[in-house]
Amino acid sequence: MEIRVQNVSMVYPNGKTALKNLNLDLKSPSLIGLLGPNGAGKSTLMKLLVGALLPTAGSIQVDGRPLTRSEKQLKSRLGYLPQDFGLFDELTVAQFLDYMAALKEIRSPKTAVSQAIEAVNLKEKAKSKIRTLSGGQRQRVGIAQALLGDPSFFIFDEPTVGLDPEERIHFRNLFSQTAQNRLVLLSTHIIEDVQSVCDQLVVIHHGRILFAGTPEELILTAQGHVGIFWEQEAFEEEGLHITARVNTSQGIRCRAVAESLPACAVPEEPSLEDAYLYLISREVVS
Ligand code: ADP
Ligand code: MG
Repeated sequence: MEIRVQNVSMVYPNGKTALKNLNLDLKSPSLIGLLGPNGAGKSTLMKLLVGALLPTAGSIQVDGRPLTRSEKQLKSRLGYLPQDFGLFDELTVAQFLDYMAALKEIRSPKTAVSQAIEAVNLKEKAKSKIRTLSGGQRQRVGIAQALLGDPSFFIFDEPTVGLDPEERIHFRNLFSQTAQNRLVLLSTHIIEDVQSVCDQLVVIHHGRILFAGTPEELILTAQGHVGIFWEQEAFEEEGLHITARVNTSQGIRCRAVAESLPACAVPEEPSLEDAYLYLISREVVS
C-alpha cells in the first residue's frame, strides 16, 4: 500500500490554515510516527488521510488512484482511532465492538470481536459497561475497534493518551507487531511512544513538515547542538533550550540544545528528544 500526499493544504471554513502545502509518501510495511506539538496539524492530516475531510488544495493518491475515487475501498482496509473518539457508555465492551463490527460489515464478527478484545487485554472487562471503565480502559476499547476486521492500514490519533506506562509498552509492542506487514501511522507528542518502535518519523509544526525520515536521521540533525555546562558559565544565552538541570555539589549542571552552544559547553550525543526540540525551536514562522 502506498499513500502519496501532494501539495496538500487545508484551510478550515473559519479561515484557519491548518496545513500548508504538504508533500509526503507513506509506504507499507512501516510504522510511522507523526510528531508535533498541540495544534501542529496532526489530526487534520489524519482526517484527510481517512477521507473525513477534503483538502482545500492538492491531492491524495492511494495506490496510484485519487482518494476521492477509492474512498470505499480504502475504508474497508482501514482501522481508525480518532483523537476524540466517542464510546457508547451504556453498552458493554463486547456489545460496542459487536456494533462496530456490524457497521464495518465484518463477515465473522464473533471471532473478530474476541480477537480484538484479546489484543488489547480487556477480556475481563468484556461484559462491563463502558461507563464503568477507566480512561486507559476506554482508550483500549477505541484501539480494539480499530483492530476489528484485520485492516491493512491503521491510523491512530494519539493512541497512548490516558494509558499508564505498562499499558503504553504493551501498545507499543502491539503497534510494532501490527506494522510488520501493514502501514501504521500514529500521532503523538510523546517522544518515548515513537522512540523504540517507529522506523519512520514525520515532524509537523504550524502546518508544515519540518522533517521526514528515520529516527537516526533526525538525531543526526542535532549533532553539535547539544552540550553540558555549569549554569554560572552561561547565563541568558540567546536561543538556548535547557533540557536538564541537575543540582550537584559542584554547582548546577545543565544540558542544553542550541543553534550555537556556549563556548564553555562540552558537546554531548543528541537524543531523539533533543533533536525534536532542536527542530521545533529552530523553525521560523512565516
Ligand atoms: P493537532 O492534532 O496537531 O493538535 P489539529 O490538526 O487538531 O492539530 O489542528 C491544527 C490547527 O487547526 C489548530 O490551529 C486548530 O485550532 C485548527 N483547527 C482544527 N480543527 C478545526 C476546525 N474544525 N475548525 C477550525 N480550525 C480548526
Ligand atoms: Mg490532534
